[in-house]
Amino acid sequence: MSTLSASSRTTSEWQQLDHAHQVHPFTDQKALHGRGVRVITGAQGVYIWDSEGNRFLDGMAGLWCVNVGYGRKELTQAVQRQMEELPYYNNFFQTANVSQIELARMLAELTPNGLRHFIYSSSGSEANDTVVRLVRHYWATLGKPTKRVFIGRTLAYHGSTLAAVSLGGMPNMRGMDRVPLPEFEHIIHPHAYWQGEGVTKESYGLKAARALEEKILELGADNVAAFIGEPAQGAGGVFEAPAGYWAEIQRICKKHDVLLVADEVICGFGRTGQWFGSHTYDIAPDLMSMAKGLSSGYLPISAVAMTDRIFDVIAGGGPIAHGYTYSGHPTACAVAIANLNIMKRERIVDHVRETASPYFFQKLQELAQRHPLIGEVRGVGLMAAVQLVRDKQKRIPFDAKQEPAIKCREACLSEGLIVRAVGEAVVLSPPLIITRDEIDELIGKLSAGLDQAAAQLG
Ligand code: PMP
Repeated sequence: MSTLSASSRTTSEWQQLDHAHQVHPFTDQKALHGRGVRVITGAQGVYIWDSEGNRFLDGMAGLWCVNVGYGRKELTQAVQRQMEELPYYNNFFQTANVSQIELARMLAELTPNGLRHFIYSSSGSEANDTVVRLVRHYWATLGKPTKRVFIGRTLAYHGSTLAAVSLGGMPNMRGMDRVPLPEFEHIIHPHAYWQGEGVTKESYGLKAARALEEKILELGADNVAAFIGEPAQGAGGVFEAPAGYWAEIQRICKKHDVLLVADEVICGFGRTGQWFGSHTYDIAPDLMSMAKGLSSGYLPISAVAMTDRIFDVIAGGGPIAHGYTYSGHPTACAVAIANLNIMKRERIVDHVRETASPYFFQKLQELAQRHPLIGEVRGVGLMAAVQLVRDKQKRIPFDAKQEPAIKCREACLSEGLIVRAVGEAVVLSPPLIITRDEIDELIGKLSAGLDQAAAQLG
């Protein structure tokens, strides 16, 4: 058996070939060429290695997804078994396979009350596109075809396909083409920090939730299909929901007969310290999208969950004209089943809630106390943002041109830690299996990275 080996070429040869032939997502291609890609060659637990032999603690779990950590033999074996038995078959034409069925059964057990029906896809973006199409189909089938508008939030991230990007509210996603598409609206997200010292998280949360009602009244409830939100916002900068926020959102959705969609692509599968963010925040969504942690990123798979209320209508509405070649890919389903079995057996969700998360936030808060750059630490479970500010007492932000978070991210890399820069915040989302010792290591490297950045920023 021959496998491609990183050592068959030098790093700079790989970098030149990469530049010649690969186009990178979310990347300035020209700037990348000047610096060259890091060629990642291996991973184990919470660590990854590059072709130069450097080791990094992966503070982002890949892209918020490698929840059970790298190097799980059980997952490789599940893939091999399924590949040998049935590598691929579809579920379109009166067919199914046991991995699809078993995974849906397991998901029905794990998801919050009433989400019992699942339709598969391969990415979070595809799942959210599926949501848009199914929800509109639901309302049309019910005889309310004008209920089409989706309401999302500022700094939300729901994916990169046309519908998913339209649901999202990150300004940097808007520049490339004319999005959002029509019939996608946005309200403010509940982050109080920049609203001034007197404004509490809870009061601003209520204001942000009530913006939903204002928007529904402005558009007319007869035109509004659904509200979509990440239980805690992730890629836009990590904003946990303030107490009372989701209760108010749910009250408003019910009152105006607007469906509630939870995007659990990041929050799902333990990230917030419960199986789903909907458990953490006591949300009862009508539909839920999930991806990432479903397979811990080992293979691409996503799903949309729905309640009886939604399913029964859709089931009476004729054929669903929607699906993908890889909807319910048996090998991806097999790896997801094995992944969920690891999560359960090792009680990883309990580990996040009882051990890792409290320790992680304790250490981050200690760091915030002593570090002049940190204005705010926020987050939930094992997702966190460290907000960098020019003046901590007066809450004065940096001039964006100074790129404090990018400076910090690069400094962390030189210390052997992968973090993400979002605006002027440094974002963390380590594998859920991270131990206290590894958290100590992460915090030590982050602290050193912050010191380097502070020195550069003067
Ligand atoms: N929803 C959320 C909340 C996400 O964080 C992401 C990806 N970061 C997506 C959807 C899109 O998922 P994908 O990249 O798999 O299309």
